[in-house]
Formats: sequence, C-alpha cells, structure tokens
Amino acid sequence: MYKGTSASSGIGIGSAVIVEEAELVIKREAVTDTAAEVERFKGALDQTMKDTEVLAADLATRVGEKEAEIMQGHMMLLMDPMLTGEIENSITGEAICSEYAVEQVCQNYAMVFASMDDELMQQRATDMLDIKTRMQKVLLGVASVDISALPAGSILVAKDLTPSMTAGINPANVAGIVTELGGKTSHSAILARALEISAVVAVSDFLTKVKNGDTVVLDGSEGVVYVNPEQSVKEEYESKREKFLKEKKELEQYIGKPTVTKDGVHIELVANIGKPEDVEKVLQYDGEGVGLFRTEFLFMDRTSMPTEEEQFEAYKKVAEVLAGKPVIIRTLDIGGDKEIPYMGLQKDENPFLGYRAIRFCLDRKDDVYKPQLRALLRASAFGNIKIMIPLVTCIDEYREAKALIEELKAELDQAGIAYNKEIQVGVMVETAAASLIADIFAKEVDFFSIGTNDLTQYTMSVDRGNDKVSYLYSTFNPAVLRSIKRIITCAREAGIMVGMCGEAASDPMMIPLLLAFGLNEFSMSASAILRARKLITGYSTEELQAVADKAMSFATTKEVEDYMKTFAG
Ligand code: PEP
Ligand code: MG
Repeated sequence: MYKGTSASSGIGIGSAVIVEEAELVIKREAVTDTAAEVERFKGALDQTMKDTEVLAADLATRVGEKEAEIMQGHMMLLMDPMLTGEIENSITGEAICSEYAVEQVCQNYAMVFASMDDELMQQRATDMLDIKTRMQKVLLGVASVDISALPAGSILVAKDLTPSMTAGINPANVAGIVTELGGKTSHSAILARALEISAVVAVSDFLTKVKNGDTVVLDGSEGVVYVNPEQSVKEEYESKREKFLKEKKELEQYIGKPTVTKDGVHIELVANIGKPEDVEKVLQYDGEGVGLFRTEFLFMDRTSMPTEEEQFEAYKKVAEVLAGKPVIIRTLDIGGDKEIPYMGLQKDENPFLGYRAIRFCLDRKDDVYKPQLRALLRASAFGNIKIMIPLVTCIDEYREAKALIEELKAELDQAGIAYNKEIQVGVMVETAAASLIADIFAKEVDFFSIGTNDLTQYTMSVDRGNDKVSYLYSTFNPAVLRSIKRIITCAREAGIMVGMCGEAASDPMMIPLLLAFGLNEFSMSASAILRARKLITGYSTEELQAVADKAMSFATTKEVEDYMKTFAG
C-alpha cells in the first residue's frame, strides 16, 4: 500500500495507463530572417489559442463554467501582450528560434510565480509551463498525448498532470488518477474533483512501483493506492465503491430540499471551511452557509502573515459567493496543535493550556488582531459575515475583543469605509469554564457555536491527540453530554442562536440528541451535509425527547454509545 494526498474522493479500480509526455528537446538555434520567425511564432500562438478555446468550451459544456475558467486563464496568459511581446523581442533581439525564445521567457515568468508566497500565484507557474509546452509542441509539430480516448476502466498514472491534460479526460473511461506530484489545491486536483474522478496525488516515486496494465486500486478519500493487490483487498474495495456510489446517488435527492424535521423545526445546515476555495464544495453540497471558517489556514504554509488586504479579499470572496447566507468567521486560533513558525511562538509546556487563540490575539492586538478584525469588518459590507471568538474562558476576553471591534468600527466610520454596523459577534463554547458560565455569556454575546473537539478535551482533561488516553475522549461521555445540553439550554433561554461546529455535529449517533436538546445550527465538512439533511428530516424533535432522556440517564460512556448505536444508520 502506498500513501499519498487525497485529492478527490471515491474508489477507483482499474488498469494502469502511464501517461508520459514526450521530452521536448529545445535548442538555441540561430535564425537569420527574424521577421519570418516572429510570424512563425505568431502562427503557433494562434493555434495554441484556438486549441485552448476548444478545451475551454468543451469543459464549459461538459463540466461547468467554473472549471472552464482554468482554461480561460490560459487564454488570458496567451493574450498577455507583455508575455508575447517579450517573446517577440527575444526572437528579434537575439536572433533565436521561437522554441528557445518561448522557453526562456515562459521559464522566467514561471520562476517568478513559483517564488511567490500566495498559493494561487504559485499555481500560475504550472499554468505558465503548461502553455509553454503546448506552444512548443505546435512549433515542433509534436502531437500532445491524447487521453480523451483511453479504454474504459483506465487508471491514469503520471508524474504530474497538466491542467490541459486533465481537462481533456473523458470521465466515462477514467476510473482514477494517481500522480507523483501535485497537492490538494493544484488545478488538476480541482478538475479531478469537478469531474468526480477519484484521485490520489503526491505518491512519492509511484512511477517506479507500477507498469502499464497493472491493476491499481485507489481510495481518493483516504489517499491510499494499491498495485496488484490480493483478491481480498480488491473485493473489499469493490464493495466500498458500490456503497460509496449508492449512497452518493441516493443523497443527491436532498439537494435543494429544506432542512426541516418531521415536526416542522427548521435547522440550519452549514459547512466548515479552511480556505476561500472551499466555498465551491459548500455550494455543490447545498450548504446553507458557513458555520466555521478556520482562518488559521490563511496563515499557514507561508513565511509571513497575510496582510489585512489579503485577508479582506479572502473573507469578501466567501461572503460574496454565499450571497447573503450566513458566514461565521472565526478569528485566528493558533497555538495548541496548530503551529505557525513565523509567529515566533515559544514552545509551551502545556500547549493546549497555554498561550493560544484569543489569549494570543489579545496580546498581539496591533500586529495580529486589529488587521484581522478590520479585514473582517470591511468584508462584512459584502455579505452576511459574523465574527466568532475561539477558546474564551471568561467574559472579560469577550468584552475586550468586542471593545476592540467597536474601536475599529469608529475608525472605519471616520474614514468613511463601509461595513455592517449590525455585525454579530459570538463565541465558541469549547472550554469547561465557558460551558459552566454559558448563562453569563448568553446574556452578552450574539450566538454560540459549540466546539466539541476541544470541549471534550477540556471537559475530560484528555489531550485530543494522545493515543494512550484516547479511550477517555468521547463526546458521549455523560460529563460532555451534560455540558452540551447545558450550553444549548442557556442559549435557548437567552434567545440566542446556538450551533455546533465540532466533529460531533455530523455524527449520526449524536444528531438525534442534539435535535432533542434544541440545537439550531449544525456545521460540518461540506461532503457530510446531505447525509445529515437526510437524517434530520427523518426525525421529529418531540419524539426524540424520550431518546435524549434515556441517553442522559446512563452512567458510562459505553452505555450511552451502545444505546445510540441503534441510530448509527
Ligand atoms: C472544536 O474545537 O470543536 C473546533 C471546531 O475547533 P478546532 O477543531 O479547530 O479546534
Ligand atoms: Mg477548537
């Protein structure tokens, strides 16, 4: 078994087809008639443009406008007068052949893009190299590998797939994709998800492990790949595939349906996201908004903090795409298990009990918290943004953050910058202390979201990442259940919205209890939404009261879990 990064969910079983691009040999050849050479380049540019247009139109009809944008991006690059002008100047000035001029100029641009911090800009490097190769192939008369006509049941194996190659795939014939390079957010991975082909990327040295025709089994959700597995493994994955497809099909009927229980209680079913790009999935699975945007992901995998402007753009994008649906954005929650090297945080003896989340932010107002809050306020003019403060333990923390928000609002007023004056500010209830004083919080804050991942850890005094004590880590522990119930009751009594964004919100064994307790909003990974909608619409909150009473009467986690297993579905 080989491990990689899961890029597109689902199970793929089929025969390996290794896709290798012919290595182009680009030499620096001198030309005498530079004007004719410029014309030759223009002809190739024209042809590449036409080919790209066909790919874009094909993608737009076959997959969607959004996906076609990747190819339209290539067309913009090909039309960029800076780029084409530099290539022409290079041909004329250095009296070199078009192939070499294209090589030099495009490589330079790709290097600049690749060295940028922004992941999206880095992606432009792949796009630039893709158009470079395609222009050179036209110039050299080398045909591109045609992967549109592969036999059914092919598993594409490649070092990396260029976006244009992925766009040419016919999903009816391709059962899966495995690459040695790439990441979750590479354009090929995005396209694989859009085409709904299971894919695992970043499997190191995979090309040395597989030959054409080998049987390959991949699990795009788990990020694992098998080559010529034993019959029993193959059968296990065949039945997993059937189950996956059957459930997926069945759940599609819940798209566009309201999330209302049998006794008429409307529930908000929203998604957890980490990056602005994740909103596409929220729309795909018909999420009713975002219940948790973990902003720390904007701060990760880079060498310096995102600026206020970069954050503003990210928050604005989510708010705009969700067009008035609620978007709860959590302020920076770092420390504990989430490290950000450039923040200069020292290692805490007890990271989960230390200098993290709101504690850190209130200590770093000028360089960290104010720019984030200002970006959030400015973005609130473009949609229904709500601000959420993580890891509060006492009301003073909330008051201090709220005062800062008010101070920034006044500054924005003075500067004449738009923001939502009625913006809601809520807290994550995820510490034992916050749960115990939930009644006090409920009187001041606009909403609660229960973070069961941490609430369980802090209630049970058990490190959520430590295997040795994981037997104690259960949301079904009577102490945790009492805490959850109390938080919901306090919110309901004060008339504020109460949601849950910890993993428990999508647990089929927990959903009936949460409905009985009166939870208003369930936030989970987008792909879990339709299954949750199916479950919620099948229950009546009134009928569940007896279930909740019984669950609450048990003394041990095991008894609660055994009882709730009957609801596991
Ligand atoms: C939680 O603690 O339940 C939560 C949703 O936040 P995180 O997992 O990011 O700590
Ligand atoms: Mg948490």
